[in-house]
Amino acid sequence: MTAAALTSRPPRRFYIETWGCQMNELDSQRMSGQLMQQGILPTREVAEADIILLNSCSVREKAAQKAYSRIGEYRLLKREKPDLLIGFCGCVAQQEGEKAVARVPDLDFVIGPARVGELQSVIAERRATRKPVIATGFPDAAARNYDMDLLARDGVFKGMVTIIEGCNKKCTFCIVPSTRGPEQSRPMAHVLAEVRHLLNYGFVEIELLGQTVNHWRDPETGADFAVLLDAVARLPGLRRLRFVTSYPRDFSPAMVEQFARHAEVISPYLHLPVQSGSNRILKWMGRGYEIELYYDLIARLRQARPDIALSTDLIVGFPGETDEDFQATLELVRNIRFGSLFAFKYSPRPGTAAPRLKLDPVPEAVADARLQELFQVQNDIQLEINRALVGQTFEVMVTHWGRDKGTQTGRTACHRLVHFPYGEAPVEMGSIKRVQVEQGLHHSLRGRLVA
Ligand code: SAM
Repeated sequence: MTAAALTSRPPRRFYIETWGCQMNELDSQRMSGQLMQQGILPTREVAEADIILLNSCSVREKAAQKAYSRIGEYRLLKREKPDLLIGFCGCVAQQEGEKAVARVPDLDFVIGPARVGELQSVIAERRATRKPVIATGFPDAAARNYDMDLLARDGVFKGMVTIIEGCNKKCTFCIVPSTRGPEQSRPMAHVLAEVRHLLNYGFVEIELLGQTVNHWRDPETGADFAVLLDAVARLPGLRRLRFVTSYPRDFSPAMVEQFARHAEVISPYLHLPVQSGSNRILKWMGRGYEIELYYDLIARLRQARPDIALSTDLIVGFPGETDEDFQATLELVRNIRFGSLFAFKYSPRPGTAAPRLKLDPVPEAVADARLQELFQVQNDIQLEINRALVGQTFEVMVTHWGRDKGTQTGRTACHRLVHFPYGEAPVEMGSIKRVQVEQGLHHSLRGRLVA
């Protein structure tokens, strides 16, 4: 092919907008990889795109409304570019399915989270049939396409690896089981092969992913997550191992033991959503544990790894939540002293059980005030924790440029963000350097490089 032929047609471009959790981020990386393999390149300019994908999240408020309004904006671009393809992906897409095409007739395809591996064939079908394609539902793990070469990672140091998809829990507030389907664990051999593949390419940090990551079971041998952690942590070249999201009731003593056994590799960081500090509310939420179990688990984790930084998710304003219940949540936050926290105002999700419980709704203004109070309490705690780290030295994996000139940023093993000036020459990205903390801020640390 001549140079002229190569340049005669500009490459096709795709644009992806991603909302929501790490699972969605990874799904977007999987879709990008499939498009890039076909020579279609990413763009940050939506107007330049030949294919637009909205990877939606349905966990909170007005998700469908927001998604349709964004698709409405994208549709306008079709006036200028009739061949533009618009794909509705992610959890809202799974929920809406056929309805989405009925509502937006010029939508080209709808792909649920369990079908992201089929993007190439969905696009081919759309082009061949000229009809909208709907790929929703939940195939078995064995039928899902996890091709490692069809994944465009958005970094070269930290890689996410899905180990379990879907969720079998019955939390009354949560839509995830209906959008991501029942749990499907990937075989241990596949997970280990993918981690090895990343390590061979020079990745140093691995994050294992699942909605209930610690409920993973090897479909072939029945081995549990503690066994998998042990096997992954032993892989040569791995510097940091993290996993998200763990379910408190499924966190067995054997898993706590792995934290202690592989202290060199398993990061002293754990995201453990608790949702509420009140047993009444936990019961209505269908969480399947009482707060005493959570306190006990945290105590055992801290005993195993005194350096562990904990984070959690909390919902305020769940129906029936009294001021006393909310105080129990504040008490939990003050007692545990999480390193970081994600808090949300309850939002009824279509098809979930909570609205059917007929509990008294918490007035919007009360829920807003509780959320603000919770953030205030946590902010004060975070500042205290971060200030107490001044003078200590941490190993920081350097991954980004800082906002201020001459600075870079990275994360400690316990996932704290650290800013530092690099001095004469920048530090190699992906390397792990020692940084002494000089200042503790609300959400990050500032420090200096030390030998
Ligand atoms: N699988 C995880 C668990 O429950 O342990 C969480 C998955 S969900 C994607 C992330 C967080 O969103 C939840 O931990 C919860 O705090 C929040 N969330 C989920 N449903 C919600 C709702 N209906 N209203 C407000 N927050 C919600």
